[in-house]
Amino acid sequence: MFLGKTLTKDSDLGPVAKANGIEFFLVSFVDIFGVLRSKMVPAAAISTIQKDGAGFAPFASWLDYGPDAADMIAKPDPTTCMQVPFRPDLAFVIGDCYIEDKKVEDSPRWVLKDQVEKAAKLGYEFKTGVEAEFFLLSKAPNSSLAISDPADTQEKPCYDAQAMMRRMDILQEIVKTLNACDFGVYQTDHEDANGQFEINWHYRSCLHTGDQHVFFKWVVKTLAEKHGYRATFMPRPFQNLTGNGCHCHCSLWSGGKNVFVGDGADKLSGAKPEMTSLGLSSLGWNFLGGVLAKAESFVAITNPTVNSYKRLNGLITSSGATWAPNRISFSGNNRTHMVRVPEGDRFELRLADGAANPYLLQAVILACGLQGMAQKIDPSAYFFKPTVNMYIIPQGDASISHIKTLPGNLLDAMRLFEKDPEMRTMLGNKFVDAYIKLKGAEWKDFMGHVSMWELNNTIDC
Ligand SMILES: [Mg+2]
Repeated sequence: MFLGKTLTKDSDLGPVAKANGIEFFLVSFVDIFGVLRSKMVPAAAISTIQKDGAGFAPFASWLDYGPDAADMIAKPDPTTCMQVPFRPDLAFVIGDCYIEDKKVEDSPRWVLKDQVEKAAKLGYEFKTGVEAEFFLLSKAPNSSLAISDPADTQEKPCYDAQAMMRRMDILQEIVKTLNACDFGVYQTDHEDANGQFEINWHYRSCLHTGDQHVFFKWVVKTLAEKHGYRATFMPRPFQNLTGNGCHCHCSLWSGGKNVFVGDGADKLSGAKPEMTSLGLSSLGWNFLGGVLAKAESFVAITNPTVNSYKRLNGLITSSGATWAPNRISFSGNNRTHMVRVPEGDRFELRLADGAANPYLLQAVILACGLQGMAQKIDPSAYFFKPTVNMYIIPQGDASISHIKTLPGNLLDAMRLFEKDPEMRTMLGNKFVDAYIKLKGAEWKDFMGHVSMWELNNTIDC
């Protein structure tokens, strides 16, 4: 049950626990790498924890602090409180991070809240829906990854009814859990890779979507373990199969109205004749322009791991398509572009993957979109043929030479992120410095490891 919908940030969770039979709270926050960190708090202590916060050593998570740093506390936000339907003695609540009474500016929920506040000051609310794909694996160690269903072997398994039937028990439990928590799930399917699924729920205000995205991943992983599987959102766990995307549908609202919906101004600045049918308003057009103009700078956020770049620009899959973009482009209802505009009321950013931080994903799109509106950025330069298959680079097609390719690895992406000073003005120096430092260390660690590919291809040099 989504108890938070009737609560405010100042509500006392003690009486809420009593009224609903809750014995424990899982007080959680998400670190910069997207890892969910929690403390289990008995209901008798929750009112005190609301005042004092649950204490964490920040160095012990992926935040930029040393082991000597003062305690970081997570103060539960009651508006996020979910009573867990499959475990009603437990409630899940997300906290905001503070050190010595100051907000931890580089903690992802604050990074998003700062952007939400900027938008609110301009009179806007950013609404989003995410499509967080995942695999159900057998419960085996990392070294022997295998999908959980040995009968799921089709080359094109997308929407396969029988493969979904064989996982109906867990899928229904996930959907019933989410819907008991007001997610508004409207469809579930087997996705393009063997063992891969997707669950779609209703779009919301972006902070709410971020909180739901965190809860969704926790529910999927927890119920997978309950059913004897292991769930992963890893961008590309299998070399021959489609990876886990996290497509994000975006719209901007003001006064209860979606301001992306076309205002009849078809003669947009710089628009080409074939674009006028996309139906976005001039505000939507400029918001999209901001996102496209900054895509190469923020791909390190939406695609944050070494493994992310094996989904982008990845090897062809057994289904015949990676379903992941390789260039910074958009058109209408064409899934092979980085941005799809399926209807004139929203656009779908198809760049992000399952490792994207639920808060930073929303924050960076909103920040760039607002800048696009402020600077009236025209996305025309990123428009490319509506009918082309972007997964197959058109040979000898000079018209594509102006469409940039996405970075080939995390290091290139981080260099693009670091060299764009506007990332600092948008996301804050503290966050950008922390991100560069932590991701730089991750890349160095990766480069220190010798892979089987290197051995196979270099041993006889
Ligand atoms: Mg999908």
